[in-house]
Amino acid sequence: MNCFAHQEISAVGVCVNCGKAACANCIKVSATQVACSKSCLKETVHKKQREKFKYNLTVIRCVRTIFASKLSIIVGAIFLGGNQSGAGCILIALGIFTYIWASLQLEYILEKKDLS
Ligand SMILES: [Zn+2]
Ligand SMILES: [Zn+2]
Repeated sequence: MNCFAHQEISAVGVCVNCGKAACANCIKVSATQVACSKSCLKETVHKKQREKFKYNLTVIRCVRTIFASKLSIIVGAIFLGGNQSGAGCILIALGIFTYIWASLQLEYILEKKDLS
C-alpha cells in the first residue's frame, strides 16, 4: 500500500479517522493515534473526547435514574403506609423496575469501559 498523496512512496501507517494510507512524510502521530493529516488527527481527538463525554453523560443519567427510582420506592412506601396503597404499589413497582433497569445498564457500560 502506498501513500494517498505520494503514489510512489510506500505507506508507513493508516489514518484512524479516514482510513487513508500515509507515508513517513505525511503521517501525523500523536501519543495514541496515527492520522494522515493534522485535521484528521484533530478529528480523532475530538471523537475520543466526544465518546468520553457521551460515556460520562450515560453514567450520570444512570445514576440519576437509580436515584429517582429509590425516591419512587420511598414515596411509594409512604403512600402505602397512608391511605393511598394503590398508588404506593404502583410507585414501588415502578421504582424497582427502573432501579433494576438502570443498574443493569450502568453495569453494562462500566464493563464495556473496562474492556476498551
Ligand atoms: Zn485521514
Ligand atoms: Zn505522503
